[in-house]
Amino acid sequence: MGQPLSDPAERLWKFVRGDTPTVEFEQWVYDTPTLEQLFGPDMYLELISLDYRDPMETVRLPDRLRSWLDEHVPRDCECITWQDKEKNPEGYETANLGADFTILKSRTPWLDLIQCLHCGSHWYLATDTVDADYYLLRLTEEQVAAILDRDEWPKQFDDLEHVWPPPGWFAHDDCRDLDDWQEKHGRPEE
Ligand SMILES: [Zn+2]
Repeated sequence: MGQPLSDPAERLWKFVRGDTPTVEFEQWVYDTPTLEQLFGPDMYLELISLDYRDPMETVRLPDRLRSWLDEHVPRDCECITWQDKEKNPEGYETANLGADFTILKSRTPWLDLIQCLHCGSHWYLATDTVDADYYLLRLTEEQVAAILDRDEWPKQFDDLEHVWPPPGWFAHDDCRDLDDWQEKHGRPEE
């Protein structure tokens, strides 16, 4: 809301991945006549004449748009396709997490602020080594600034059991406690 429509592809992906409600997407389609240029007359007509109240008509729309995007707007990374809140089993889509992202700051050995090396998006990553899951939360500029400047992290993963070192764990890493660990490991070497 109130955001510049600088990148229609970003808006389309947001809907395709399930982060924009259908009514909001419908309104954006009606409010954005420049989409006719982007899509061409046939696809544009299809979009503005769709009955967005009819689930039978809208059910295939995300797949249809995804195919269109894949064909017409080349993307550099997978992360634009991920939901704002995503849980991925390790080894699935995020298998290359290490190669495609850089760690900007760590809260615990298993909670990191990361940035996509391709599109620049910021994510809050929780690595559950016990259940072998990745949890990802897409971050806003404000959230990133709060983490970097004031060490204020979103509460999203506060209750995840396996991403907080148990007491006693730190001794193995030559640290006294979490504060000490963050001091030593929280930020990668410049
Ligand atoms: Zn990306």
